[in-house]
Amino acid sequence: MPLDKILEEIEATKGSAQKWYDIVYYGDQDLGVQNCPLCLLYNECMDCPIGWITGEYVCKDSPYRSWSIHQLQKHKRFGGKIECDVCRESANWELMWLQFVEGMVSYGYENEEAG
Ligand SMILES: [Zn+2]
Repeated sequence: MPLDKILEEIEATKGSAQKWYDIVYYGDQDLGVQNCPLCLLYNECMDCPIGWITGEYVCKDSPYRSWSIHQLQKHKRFGGKIECDVCRESANWELMWLQFVEGMVSYGYENEEAG
């Protein structure tokens, strides 16, 4: 993969983790695709690192699923903000997940350079 693509991917992954950090700690809002740097970079989910880690298309097998289902079922709409303890827990999982993805992405390429 060309270096500019690698850097773009690392940058987007960091940005997505940062988004969830801001949701968890600063009460920011999840606007789905609209404020996810990974979604914006890989707009049809093709080649998104989430997909190659979970082996699934879109965020189907990531904690994002429980976050969105909870919001719709419990709060009857997708507000994208933390409104209860379950929201907080789901958002925390999503944050930890993206920090893990960020680590995988950076580590993967470090290894590629070394190998
Ligand atoms: Zn909730």
